Formats: sequence, structure tokens, C-alpha cells
Amino acid sequence: MAYRYKTVLLKISGEALQGRIGFGLDPDTVDDIASQIAEVSRGGVRLGLVIGGGNIFRGQALAERGLNRVTGDHMGMLATVINALAMQDALERQGLETRVQGAIRMVEFCEPFIRRRAIRHLEKGRVVIFAAGTGNPYLTTDTAAVLRASEIGADIILKATKVDGIYDCDPKKNKEAKLYEQINYLDVIKLRLKVMDATAISLAMENKIPTIVFNLQIKGNIKKTIMGEPIGTLVSDQD
Ligand code: UDP
Repeated sequence: MAYRYKTVLLKISGEALQGRIGFGLDPDTVDDIASQIAEVSRGGVRLGLVIGGGNIFRGQALAERGLNRVTGDHMGMLATVINALAMQDALERQGLETRVQGAIRMVEFCEPFIRRRAIRHLEKGRVVIFAAGTGNPYLTTDTAAVLRASEIGADIILKATKVDGIYDCDPKKNKEAKLYEQINYLDVIKLRLKVMDATAISLAMENKIPTIVFNLQIKGNIKKTIMGEPIGTLVSDQD
């Protein structure tokens, strides 16, 4: 197998699925990502997916508009389930076998998260989409991604973004922004680089799971990253 990483947790934000629409789901964008995922899955990579919900609802943004934070977070977690079902459908149209496992019970839509069962699905070549985040408010799907990656024994977390990786400052505002090829988790926290929230970073650091932050908008990047090509920024506990 030409792939460097055998078990991968791919984290895709909800926003990545909205394409140019600005809210909700763009079917063409979802299909495009699904076809890239299908290629690596057919190549034998064990793939778990965590999809965010920010294209529909974020608890914090709802709380700023007056909603109760916990209710807002529940709505955000439900949004991730909508996205997971859309991605499942797109992946199945690519001919893949998939399962959605939810952190909250919705047995008519998806299986509950059961770690051993998730691992068995991966062994059988099924793509497992982990929905509803961690099932707890005040957390993010980045934390869910690190948690599930730890539970399934992933070699790497791939965090898909709209930029090429981690920069020392915002590349959209500053043309001189420098892209890190590699950085350690402690420096990400110390330098307050906006990669993942602090809970997710500390969990990844403690569990020694590296993350590659890469640009999903460049077609073929999922495959290249899993093959070990030097794409994006590698974040690890190593200096
Ligand atoms: N959320 C939550 N607990 C979790 C994961 C997510 O409460 O474990 C809620 C939270 O309101 C969050 C929303 O679901 O804002 C959508 O997730 P996130 O913001 O991580 O999505 P992304 O930014 O990746 O699209």
C-alpha cells in the first residue's frame, strides 16, 4: 500500500460543505469531497470522519443571540448529524459501505457510538462517520475528532481547512505570513495559533496523536496527505 497512514481520522468543518452557498449544504461540494474520500478508502485506508456543524448552527453564536448555551450546543450537535447523513449518502453513491455512529442516541437514523463496533467497521473497509460531536455541550467537533481518533487508534488526524496549513499570522490579512511545515502542540498553545481549540490540542498532545492541517480546497490533497507527501502543517508532540 502506497499510503503512509493506515488509520486516519479526517475532520471536516461544516463550512467546508457549504461551498459558495454561505449556509447549509452544497451537494456538488459534498460529492466532490466524497469522491476524494472514496479513492483513499478503496486504497485500503481505514477512515473515520468527524464533520462539524458550523454551516448550520454553532452553540456559541446562538448564545450570543440570546439562546441558552446548552440548547444552542444541542442544536449544533444535531447540525453535525444532518451533515453526517449527507456525507453518508454521498459516500454510498460512490459505492462505499459506511456507518454513521452518533454520540447521542438516534437509533432510527444511525447507530450509537460503540468503540469496538466502530473498529470492526473500519476493519471491514467501511467508512465510519462519527456524528453529534462528543455528545456534550461546551465542546467542539475538533475535540470530538481527537477523542474518536484516540479511541480508534488513528495514526493521524487530518484537519481540513480553507488555507494551506498553520501560519504565524492570518495569511488573508498579511502577505508576509509564514507557513509552518512542522510545529509542536505546546507552541501552538503558547503562540495562540488558531488551529483547534485548547481542549482538542491538549487531548491530542496527551495522547500523542499528530495532526496535519491541510487545504481541502485543493483537489487531491486528502490522498496526497495520507500518502505522506509534505502538505500542510504537521503538528505533533515532537520538536
Ligand atoms: N458541539 C457541542 N459538543 C460537541 C461538538 C459540537 O456542543 O462535542 C456543538 C457546538 O455548539 C458547536 C456545534 O456543535 O458549535 C458545531 O460544531 P463545530 O462548531 O465544532 O463545527 P465546525 O466549526 O467544525 O463546523
